Amino acid sequence: MTTLAITDGQVLRPDLTVTTADVLVDQDTGEIREIAPELAADADETLDAAGSLVTPGFVNGHCHVAMTLLRGYADDKPLDAWLQEDIWPAEGEMTPEDVRIGAELGLLELIKSGTTAVADMYFHVPEVAAAVENAGVRARLGHGIVTVGKDDEAAREDAQTSLEIAREYDGAADGRISTAFKPHSLTTVGGEYLEEFIPKAREAGIPVHYHANETEAEVTPIVEEHGQRPLEYAAEHGMLEPEDFVAHGVHVDDREIDLLAEAGTAVIHCPASNMKLGSGMAPVQRMREAGVTVGLGTDGAASNNDLSMLDEARDRPCSANSRPTTPARCPPRPSSRWRLEAAPTRSASSRAGSRLVRRPISP
Ligand SMILES: [Zn+2]
Repeated sequence: MTTLAITDGQVLRPDLTVTTADVLVDQDTGEIREIAPELAADADETLDAAGSLVTPGFVNGHCHVAMTLLRGYADDKPLDAWLQEDIWPAEGEMTPEDVRIGAELGLLELIKSGTTAVADMYFHVPEVAAAVENAGVRARLGHGIVTVGKDDEAAREDAQTSLEIAREYDGAADGRISTAFKPHSLTTVGGEYLEEFIPKAREAGIPVHYHANETEAEVTPIVEEHGQRPLEYAAEHGMLEPEDFVAHGVHVDDREIDLLAEAGTAVIHCPASNMKLGSGMAPVQRMREAGVTVGLGTDGAASNNDLSMLDEARDRPCSANSRPTTPARCPPRPSSRWRLEAAPTRSASSRAGSRLVRRPISP
């Protein structure tokens, strides 16, 4: 066993108290062996953390890391126009090498801001997986499926790719990579493909992750076409299971919140992305009171515009004070009170996020 002592840092404990202590880590397993004063003499190596906060790594529950290449691109549009007029055409030009470079940049940004695990949806996933393997972080990866605008053959090929990628890469990078089947959303993937492929993902034991109820424009077409709320539609298609997790959940009604709570399906709250795209604000408090597991995510850098989980922890209480579909007003520097309020949110959401990448957070 090779040990590292992280010395003299301010250590954030699971009960959210902060004490000055050393942290002794088994570098072979990554496990924390002991938290106590004066552990440097017991360690093979030391890292001086004086003046720093020592916390478990953050877990980013919803991201598109390679979108660092599109940061700041088309900054002034709502979701639908932003995707269809700007983002999807630009992504259509991206090569596997572009995705590899974008993922490497994104992972560096995550690591610099304290994130050690991420759930990611993108394309050219083997390139993202290679970047994750080199970076040393943990990730739940998946190929995002979009069938709108495609003929049946291309649509089925996209769904098949997501299934095969999920099967092939689960457990890769010595177990640091897990996977999910990832339809982009309930409005960008046709119901016939969900009916065909969700059971196949279940057979393979693969969870499902998708954007849901992000904007009203994602709700109305499903209500009009199927006479159901989107998460009722998702439940009917077998897409609300305990291992599943949905991004956003902004426009959910009480029935949908109950469905999430009953199913044990987690919601990843992405406040900065929702603010930037004017999507509205998720009813996080109501969801948590109902028993829904809520994690935090940055979404891609193009809709954020950064990948810092500390920024999301700051934005969460800010966004809770904004009104749905109204741009949030938030001073550029958070008050100390907000910082304190953010702490339990970060802690709870990191626990939720850790479940998503199969990594317990120990003391
Ligand atoms: Zn997203």
